[in-house]
Amino acid sequence: MKIADRLTTLPPYLFARIEQKIDELKEKKVDVISLGIGDPDLPTPPHIVQRLIEQAKNPENHRYPSSAGMMAFRKAVADWYQRRFQVDLDPAAEVVTLIGSKEGIAHISFCYLQEGDVALIPDPGYPVYGIGASLAGAENYLLALKSENNFLPDLGSIPADIAKRAKLMFINYPNNPTGATCTKEFYQEVVEFARDYDLIVCHDAAYSEITFDGYVAPSFLEAPGAKDVGIEFHSFSKTYNMTGWRIGWAVGNAEIIQTLTTLKSNLDSGAFQAVQYAGIAALEGSQDCVEKMRQIYQKRRDLALKGFADLGWKISSVPKGTFYLWLPVPEGYSSAEFAELVLEKTAVVITPGTGYGKYGEGYIRVCLTLEEERLQEAIARMKKAFGTFKF
Ligand SMILES: *Cc1c(COP(=O)(O)O)cnc(C)c1O
Repeated sequence: MKIADRLTTLPPYLFARIEQKIDELKEKKVDVISLGIGDPDLPTPPHIVQRLIEQAKNPENHRYPSSAGMMAFRKAVADWYQRRFQVDLDPAAEVVTLIGSKEGIAHISFCYLQEGDVALIPDPGYPVYGIGASLAGAENYLLALKSENNFLPDLGSIPADIAKRAKLMFINYPNNPTGATCTKEFYQEVVEFARDYDLIVCHDAAYSEITFDGYVAPSFLEAPGAKDVGIEFHSFSKTYNMTGWRIGWAVGNAEIIQTLTTLKSNLDSGAFQAVQYAGIAALEGSQDCVEKMRQIYQKRRDLALKGFADLGWKISSVPKGTFYLWLPVPEGYSSAEFAELVLEKTAVVITPGTGYGKYGEGYIRVCLTLEEERLQEAIARMKKAFGTFKF
């Protein structure tokens, strides 16, 4: 059967080889430790689960929801934005419910991109930005995120002819996979750049609540004028350990939110209302569960960094956000070679940086979504197999 070109021109799936090795090891009953998947290991807080159970019993929630989401949900999002960021949002016009933020991130490209357009894509980055833009027919221009620039894109280096053709730009802080954070001043620069070149900014704030050492992440919408040029994607997945629930939202510029809602109303029928009620419970309930989770990740981060330092890594900066460590590869290996070697010798899964784009070469990503004991065991296995690495 002939597959449409748009699918066959997608970049090859870089984890396929590693996944095959994991399967082989598991078949041999080897105890594989995965530092690979960015999926919280902790359960959803009980008060959120309880709200789902109650609302699942109400037949009114068994019917089709609206694409834009319940007004009560959108109002809870607007209220949370006010409390958390002091950003005003009109729940009727400036908030749309998503079936997970990935859904909205993929679909926004279909609203604004077509053949001949350019999308500005951070690299390394969450793969959906570039894939969505490619599927919509646009050319990806990669914004290299480099350590010497604190993993922020260098907007000044984008050629003017590219910037003029660009319709959409994705950014993401706290950043997956680098763990980098940014300031409100950076967002201000992005707003000015977007104004100069008349492009739309899509900020992915999935990790805004996963921050450490007292750092509080700003919203892109806090930057003056941000609402004129862009939107922000958000998710319950990381903040409340709800990756499986498929619920998120986009907020910001009313015209962009309306356009996304129109596309969605033609493609999907919204998120299960009982799940939206659970989302309201998450946003309106005590945020102690979020603070507890931050403390757990921060402890794991410190423990892992100590372990990697003991293995020879020179830790130059400690990530203030996300549950990822973005570490350079030891001397003499590519990202993929190193990840494969570690898997082969220790049954520990780490992801090669190239899984997040070509500028990820030379790095590995380590995920902190497992218990301290298992993290310690992973590091002990590496110590036993390799001693210390050279850089
Ligand atoms: C996990 C993650 C998301 C969240 O996706 P959902 O679809 O809401 O589960 C979004 N962006 C990034 C960068 C992520 O890592």
